[in-house]
Amino acid sequence: MIMDVLIVGSLAYDSLETPVGSRADELGGSASYGGFSAAFHNRKNSGNGIALVGVVGDDFKSEHLEWYNASGLDISGIEVNRGETFRWKGSYHGTMAEAVTHETHLNVFETFQPKVPTSHSKPQVLMCANLHPSLQSSVLLQATAKRVSILDSMNLWINIANEELRELIKKVDILVLNDGEVRMLSGDENLITASNSVLQMKNGGILVVKRGEHGVLALHPEGMISMPSYPTSNLVDPTGCGDSFAGAMAQILSQGSGEVSRAELAEALVHATVTASFTIENFGTERIRNLTNEEYQQRLIEYRTITNTS
Ligand code: AMP
Repeated sequence: MIMDVLIVGSLAYDSLETPVGSRADELGGSASYGGFSAAFHNRKNSGNGIALVGVVGDDFKSEHLEWYNASGLDISGIEVNRGETFRWKGSYHGTMAEAVTHETHLNVFETFQPKVPTSHSKPQVLMCANLHPSLQSSVLLQATAKRVSILDSMNLWINIANEELRELIKKVDILVLNDGEVRMLSGDENLITASNSVLQMKNGGILVVKRGEHGVLALHPEGMISMPSYPTSNLVDPTGCGDSFAGAMAQILSQGSGEVSRAELAEALVHATVTASFTIENFGTERIRNLTNEEYQQRLIEYRTITNTS
């Protein structure tokens, strides 16, 4: 079956500490968050399916594979290898604007060679969620997006795989980064000039800059987009907000055809923003996995009213 969205990224057990509390071995990873988010929109829009590509260790709980299945995700591209699942330990302080990484254990990802099932090699949208650029690169060689390719990354790879990342961003249609990463990659403090120089590095296309509580800025060939975040006081755990944001955007864009217009991107960003606002309201994937259509529609209407766009 032709997938709407193919997501490659990390599948992880996270240890999290936020001002609200802490959790150990919480199911996480960029592909998990991106997948649950895209799967929610896939069910809502009666799409053709979302598939994950990644690796877990033999310590991965079958209950968690069941969670992927239950949300309708195709997991035939997930390998179970000998060893431990990827682990990430992070904490958030104050306004929880930034994650402080304490530990990253690649474990089974260290020797992972992604294999995209042939049946999944021509998705509408290919989403390379946060992962080592060489693994993202390998997936870009095995799969071709019929419509849009999206790439996400993080400060770690800007630091230790800079050249590789700079080459990779030229090969995708949409680059998604947060404001700190854009500043870091460009070496420029001013977000607008920094974003413009990253787009130049990328040789054009679309750049989406996630700005946490300040919303999103996007550079599109037809013009800029700037949107606020959904104002919520219920901040529990921001882990995976960026990935759920990108997962929602990917699924919405998989439903269109031709070039992505500025108006279409703006609409996808509305859904990405509203979706991410749910992820933050509980630890791990809890909130995004159990999100109902009614809750979503209600917040979507509220967001459009708040931003005067309804
Ligand atoms: P976000 O908060 O959206 O940036 O995503 C956080 C998720 O990224 C967590 O679930 C982590 O497991 C995952 N993550 C953290 N560091 C890495 C890394 N170096 N490579 C891949 N995934 C990571």
